[in-house]
Amino acid sequence: MAGLRIEHLYKRYENDGKKKNAVKNDYAVKDLNLVADQGEFIALLGPSGCGKTTTLRMTAGLEDITKGEIYIGDTLVNNLHPKDRHIGLAFEDYAMYPPLTVYDNIAFNLKAKGVDKAEIDKRVREIAPLMQCDDLLDKMPVKLSGGQKQRVNIARAIIRRPELLLMDEPLSHLDGKARQAMRTEIKRLINDIKCTTIYVTHDQLEAMSLADKIAIINFGVLQQYGTPAEVYDDPVNEFVASFIGEPPMNIIETTIIGEGDHFLFTFANSNLKIAVPERYNNVVSNGFKCKMGVRPMDVLIGGADSKGTPEEVATFENLGDERRIGIHVGSSLLMLITDDETRYKAGDIIKLEVRGEKTHLFDIETGNRIRA
Ligand code: ATP
Repeated sequence: MAGLRIEHLYKRYENDGKKKNAVKNDYAVKDLNLVADQGEFIALLGPSGCGKTTTLRMTAGLEDITKGEIYIGDTLVNNLHPKDRHIGLAFEDYAMYPPLTVYDNIAFNLKAKGVDKAEIDKRVREIAPLMQCDDLLDKMPVKLSGGQKQRVNIARAIIRRPELLLMDEPLSHLDGKARQAMRTEIKRLINDIKCTTIYVTHDQLEAMSLADKIAIINFGVLQQYGTPAEVYDDPVNEFVASFIGEPPMNIIETTIIGEGDHFLFTFANSNLKIAVPERYNNVVSNGFKCKMGVRPMDVLIGGADSKGTPEEVATFENLGDERRIGIHVGSSLLMLITDDETRYKAGDIIKLEVRGEKTHLFDIETGNRIRA
C-alpha cells in the first residue's frame, strides 16, 4: 500500500473536435496539487466536465500528462506503464468478459500475470465474500444485476492487492436504494483492505459519507481539499459552499449596515435583518456590500413570543422526516429545513430567526470567503 502525491499537474487535450463538450485551447486540469496519505480514502468531487476523470486516468497511466508529476509512494510514475503502477481500477462501465464466469472474470488479471492456479483460487475465495459475490462465482455476467456486476467489478480491481485503488463513479449505474447499499459496502470494504483509494464522483453525498478527504474541483482547478467537516463548515469560496450540502447553502447579496455597536445584514426589497457575527467588526463597515451565506438548518422558525421577522411562506415541501420552507428575500429564495410538523402553505406567516453566528461572508466579485 502506498500514498499518492500529485504535483502541479496539467492536462491540455489536443482537441480534434470529436469529443462532445471538449475543452478548446484550455486546460482540462490546471496546476493540481494533492497528497493522499497511505490508506486514505480521497474523493475527487465536482460537476460534470471539471476534470475528475482526466485526473484519475493520468494517475492510472491511461492518459498522457501535459505537465507535472505523479508519485505513487516514492515512485515517480509519469513514464510507467499502467500495469507497473500497482493500481486497481474500477470504472463506471463494468467491462466484464461475457463468455467467462464471474470466477474467471475475477481471476482474469492474475491468470494473465501467470500467477499459480492454487494462489489464484485462494485469492478469489478470499475476495468473493468480502464483496458478497461468493454465490455468484459460477454465474455468467449476463445473469447479474447492476449491483452484482458492480461488486464483481470491484472484486476484480482489488484482487491484485493494489497499492492504489482508483474508482470512477462506480455506483453511477445503480438506482437510489442499491446505490445506498453499495455505498455502505464500499465503506466496509475499504475499512477491511485499508487501501489508498481515489474515488471520482459528482455526488456530494457520496463524497461526504465515504471520504477521509474531499478534493473539490471546478473547471480543472482545485477549489478546496479537506475533510468532509472542513469543506462543509469552513468553505473557502461560494462554489464550495453551494456545492456541498443538500439543499445547498443560501447565498444572498447583502448590504451591511451599522446599528449602535453592531452590524446587520440587510437585503434589497426585504425587511429581514440578520446580526453580523461580532468577529467581522473589523472587516465590515456601514454600506459594505457582499454575499451572505447561511445553511438551511441555521434558519429557524420562532415560537409565538419570538422576536424574529414575520415572513410569508413561499414554498413548502414535506419530505417525511424533514420539511423545507422557502421564503422570498427580495428576488432570492431563502430555504430552511425544519422538523416542525405543522403543514404550512404558501401565504402563511412565520417568524424567521437566523443563527447570525453561523453566517458566512463572500466577496461579490471573486466569490472568495471574506474571513474575520
Ligand atoms: P464527468 O463527470 O462528466 O465524467 P469529469 O469531471 O470527469 O466529468 P473529464 O472527463 O475529466 O471531466 O473532462 C474534463 C474536460 O476535458 C471536459 O471539458 C471534457 O470535455 C474534456 N475532455 C475529456 N476527454 C477529452 C478528449 N479525449 N479530448 C478532448 N477533450 C476532452
